[in-house]
Amino acid sequence: MHSAKIENQNSNIEYNPWNQTLDLLRLEYGDAIFRSWFLHLKFEEIKDGVVIITVPTKFIREWVINNYIPTIKENLIKYDPTVRRVEIKVRLHRQKLLTQQPSNDDFTPSLKNEDKCNIFDFTLDSRLTFENFVVGASNKIAASVAKTLADNKHTIDHNILYVQSSVGMGKTHLLQAIASHIKTTTPNRKVAFLSAEKFMHLYIRSIRDNDSITFKEKLRTAEILIIDDLQFICGKNSTEQELLNTVTALTESNKKVVLSCDTSPYNLNLDMRAKSRLAGGLVVNIATPDYTLRLEILKSKITQLNTSISDDILELIATNITSSVRELEGAINKLVSYCNITNKVITLQVAEEILRDNIAAHNQQISIDSVLHYVAEAYGVKVIDIQSKRRSARFVLPRQVAAFVAKQVTQYSLQEIGFKLGNKDHATVIYSIKKIEEKMSYDQALTNNISKIISSLGK
Ligand code: ADP
Ligand code: MG
Repeated sequence: MHSAKIENQNSNIEYNPWNQTLDLLRLEYGDAIFRSWFLHLKFEEIKDGVVIITVPTKFIREWVINNYIPTIKENLIKYDPTVRRVEIKVRLHRQKLLTQQPSNDDFTPSLKNEDKCNIFDFTLDSRLTFENFVVGASNKIAASVAKTLADNKHTIDHNILYVQSSVGMGKTHLLQAIASHIKTTTPNRKVAFLSAEKFMHLYIRSIRDNDSITFKEKLRTAEILIIDDLQFICGKNSTEQELLNTVTALTESNKKVVLSCDTSPYNLNLDMRAKSRLAGGLVVNIATPDYTLRLEILKSKITQLNTSISDDILELIATNITSSVRELEGAINKLVSYCNITNKVITLQVAEEILRDNIAAHNQQISIDSVLHYVAEAYGVKVIDIQSKRRSARFVLPRQVAAFVAKQVTQYSLQEIGFKLGNKDHATVIYSIKKIEEKMSYDQALTNNISKIISSLGK
């Protein structure tokens, strides 16, 4: 738990339910949001079931009240059932009153940046380019559509590109690549890039400042609007509505909108019309990378890091860390920093030792039985049909998908997978996996289905 660390910044006195609540909020919202908002919150006191929390500015107070109070209260009650209400107050800055020096506490650096934010003048991570995006079966369509759009080729008749994947698969990378490609190749093309969270922040701020018309007008001058992590604002009524209005206005005047999201448009908490508007765009999925792509990505990362690691170690990582590119990166970065610190060449054995935690996290074994269960459910067939020898297409496809998914998400050998698939031999399993990889390179619906199955399996 992070309680001890958080405690220093977020409470004047010891009140464990508050520290535990902060831990939960960090887990629930992730580090970036936690740092933007919750790190400012200081527990002051609890009196008659009323918890008093203070924040440095009025703006943060409004923001927290509008967005997070119910979650804060709900979590606090889990640890302290006597809590009835949570009040957020602006704390006085004694230092400021005395000296008139701006206090560091007033705004975090990120908020200062957001404050000045111009949607057309954003900073991109120079590493997130098309050149550094390694392409394989699971991301081929997404990468090629993104590049075509960035090149402004008129071969895409959709005005909305919707990139969907679970976390750590490369959505932000692709969106940033689009933006930086446009900035370098056609700097006159007006591209706006912002996270959905930033969109919400700017929109609410514009309302507060009575300036929402300017905000709206500015957005509508974009030739291409890129919004990352759409899921963040879904269900947040007015912001969501404003974003959808913007999308409609832009696409109707033939401008492009690129959105990324961790789920399909149909799973979003939106009304049916909005869902079908988004789903009517070009929806592309990035699925979990297969072994070949994992290995290629690792090789590309070490080249970027200007270091070398032997192939058997890269194979160890590619075999054992299967769920996302982000985790692959985490593993390779850990090894490289170990090398740098110790100045040693790593052997396979040392690598296994260093990566034991990373690998263990992945080895929380998913059984082949659960793969069969989810695949059968997704295709509306019975597990015994998948395990049977029946050759009807209705059963062959799920059988091949089960082989592919089992290889992706479990640690079992091809023989073991074959056995569970109804005593099929190792060559049949390889053939099935190859077939699926091949189909995935052109069949987006299949890629989407497989992604869904893999996320249902908790990977
Ligand atoms: P998401 O936005 O889907 O959560 P990111 O775009 O942040 O994922 O990707 C996580 C990390 O993995 C980033 O550092 C990104 O550069 C890297 N990454 C993802 N896909 C690829 C790829 N195909 N080639 C190279 N790096 C990748
Ligand atoms: Mg992202």
